[in-house]
Amino acid sequence: MTRLERNPPATGCRNAPILKERGQHEVFCGLTGIIWLHRKMQDAFFLVVGSRTCAHLLQSAAGVMIFAEPRFGTAILEETDLAGLADAQEELEREVDRLLARRSDIRQLFLVGSCPSEVIKLDLARAAERLSARHAPHVRVLNYSGSGIETTFTEGEDACLASMVPALPETAERQLLLVGALPDVVEDQALDLLQKLGIENVAVLPARRADKGLAIGPNTVFALTQPFLGGTHAALERRGARHVPAPFPFGEEGTTAWLAAVAREFGVDRARFDAVTSAPRARARRAIRKAAEALHGKSVFFFPDSQLEIPLARFLTRECGMEAIEIGAPYIHKGLVGPDLDLLAPGPTLAEGQDVERQLDRCRAESPDLTVCGLGLANPLEAEGLATKWAIELVFTPVHFYEQAGDLAGLFSRPLRRRTALHLGTGS
Ligand code: SF4
Repeated sequence: MTRLERNPPATGCRNAPILKERGQHEVFCGLTGIIWLHRKMQDAFFLVVGSRTCAHLLQSAAGVMIFAEPRFGTAILEETDLAGLADAQEELEREVDRLLARRSDIRQLFLVGSCPSEVIKLDLARAAERLSARHAPHVRVLNYSGSGIETTFTEGEDACLASMVPALPETAERQLLLVGALPDVVEDQALDLLQKLGIENVAVLPARRADKGLAIGPNTVFALTQPFLGGTHAALERRGARHVPAPFPFGEEGTTAWLAAVAREFGVDRARFDAVTSAPRARARRAIRKAAEALHGKSVFFFPDSQLEIPLARFLTRECGMEAIEIGAPYIHKGLVGPDLDLLAPGPTLAEGQDVERQLDRCRAESPDLTVCGLGLANPLEAEGLATKWAIELVFTPVHFYEQAGDLAGLFSRPLRRRTALHLGTGS
């Protein structure tokens, strides 16, 4: 029997009112996703078509990394391009030809749009089509936008994965597709659990290499591992694949519910499910209990940032004993986070979008024990005496599935422990 069956929620938040805000927002742009995507897709190259600002953002988000063969770069649009005096389209295609002639290891090339390329209406789709035709079959050239206008930083991954879906070959085979870029070690753990459950035909989007033979069709069912993949979800459904809705695999409960949904789809019997999951579940529960000691009875306030907010609030309230005051998310896509909303006890304010000044006022008035927010808000809030957690860390750190459940709780308890230590140190 799973914990969900032992402990069903009375009413969830799926139909709770949502405060919709449409004001100034404080988030990183979608270019940030390149930092984890280029590590995941080992034969891909991400060419940002943007300004020096975009190049600086990538450099600083990536840290100062020196690659023998870097796998992302920026084609800088100069003032003449922006003023429409030069043919940026032709120049871009020449740059790509030069890059591909030098780098035979590149099998997928993404032209990544930015604010400047959108402002001058550079047609990257046309460029990708022409370049693909020229460099096929060795290299596939795709395009997506990472522009900061009206996006959040995790939408970069969504746009990238969605751009790959129409180009995938067709298959009639019954298969499970895991969707979302996970660190390799976490992905391997998930694949191992699925294999032990007897689910054999499992593919992953994004695949580590382009030649992995990824294909899709009407007998593909897919399970998302990240809650920010709304565009990819729609693109997969357009190809006839079917989504398996489930809470996201954060914490013991989320992981068990996610695996149970997949197991039901593939007819795995209860005895086998319990035999495979009981030991890692017990390990995860023990790890969470220890790491969450500092979280019990504490309040948490989420600013909208990573789109992980709703599943994480579910984890923190149900498995770590926290109370959620406000859960802000850039978008609330009930087709994706509905199962997590079902498990959330009513009470917190659910907010979609952002009006940052009004939200800051609400946060200050509540004075939560922990505030989860972007880097731009964290320092000022810390200076005002609030403990904060940077939302972006949750995307860079392995946090999914059983073996990471304790670490996930630890990410939230660390700022509280640090604050307690500082107070003790200063004698206050
Ligand atoms: S894409 Fe836009 S928001 Fe992102 S770094 Fe470039 S100019 Fe800035």
